[in-house]
Amino acid sequence: MTSTAPVAFFDMKAQQALIRAGIDAGIARVLDHGRFIQGPEVDALEGKLAAFAGVSHCVGVSSGTDALQIAMMAEGIGPGDAVFLPAFTYTATAEVPLVLGAAPVFVDVEEATFNLDLPDLERRVERVAREGRLRPRAVVGVDLYGLPADWPAIEALCARHGMFALDDAAQAFGARLHGKRLGGWGDAAACSFYPTKTLGCYGDGGALLTDDADRAALYRSLRTHGEGASRYEVLRTGMNGRLDSIQAAILLEKSTLLEGELAARARVAEWYADRLRPPVAAPAAPPGFESAWGIYSVLLPDAAARDRVQAALRADGLPFAVYYPKPLHHQPAYRAAHAASFDTAPPPPLPMSEDLSARVLSLPMHPYLTEAQVARVARAVMSAL
Ligand SMILES: *Cc1c(COP(=O)(O)O)cnc(C)c1O
Repeated sequence: MTSTAPVAFFDMKAQQALIRAGIDAGIARVLDHGRFIQGPEVDALEGKLAAFAGVSHCVGVSSGTDALQIAMMAEGIGPGDAVFLPAFTYTATAEVPLVLGAAPVFVDVEEATFNLDLPDLERRVERVAREGRLRPRAVVGVDLYGLPADWPAIEALCARHGMFALDDAAQAFGARLHGKRLGGWGDAAACSFYPTKTLGCYGDGGALLTDDADRAALYRSLRTHGEGASRYEVLRTGMNGRLDSIQAAILLEKSTLLEGELAARARVAEWYADRLRPPVAAPAAPPGFESAWGIYSVLLPDAAARDRVQAALRADGLPFAVYYPKPLHHQPAYRAAHAASFDTAPPPPLPMSEDLSARVLSLPMHPYLTEAQVARVARAVMSAL
């Protein structure tokens, strides 16, 4: 007997049922003390997440996007600066350099990891440096779907060129690389607590993690309009990028489940990998890379196969998604910036980013999936091929 009960793509209800009483009590405490902005829950959360990630500083902010922006503002990134980032990622990664007047330079990704292709990154950095119009200033490495990017290699390249290494860990909170959690890689890591991320609140939220005390102090100032030691001393142009006390209270409660949920996600990924067969390529982590399994994405041989699999899933009432159907350099918002990346010739192609967007497919992934549900999804996928 195959169940036809609904399968959730992300599941926030099963989790909420476990901690609803604690969430209600946490929100009630904030309503009672009334410190809705920068309340004690924000400090408590920052301490807890810094300890979890094994870093010295955590600065709560209003979203993952604002975390990226505050990190780049702290470096003074702006006009004349090149910021290198993958063409295959969520739009927020590329939006921030443009908002700050800097030039996003799109880099291709690897088929096996969906993350930055280091030789391609190096070629583009060297070309920008050689042309001399833009200054290579920063690399934003994205840990797509929860899998860490190749941080030792990104750090080494950034050190050679004097660039800032920023980890967009929005999809990967809790992931580990060579035993060290994200947050401890690169110069700083931007985290998102959007509800469907591996640690999510009930609204918007984010954080910056870093081991650098000077950067952490700048982040605290920038998230509160550039304030100095006293509230009405304005040292620099900042923004309103604070995390609400109510969201911090919710995150404190949810963080009690995090370790167990990360283990459950890894188990779900194994259940899938045991059942998916060629021509479906299940995601695999290189040795030493421990994904947070924020999103579970498989690769199909081509767009026609993806269409067939989508039709089979739809017929079985099973949810799926495509992250992302279009690489960023093809998006109207970024086309002009991409075309202007280099002076001497048009930018080199980004073939893997284009290819992946045509044949990637994301399947249900959350800590509360059962093995039977995973088997049902895998069966529907394999039946279509
Ligand atoms: C979700 C996400 C962001 C943005 O986070 P928000 O909290 O929604 O602003 C940035 N980068 C990546 C890769 C993301 O997945």
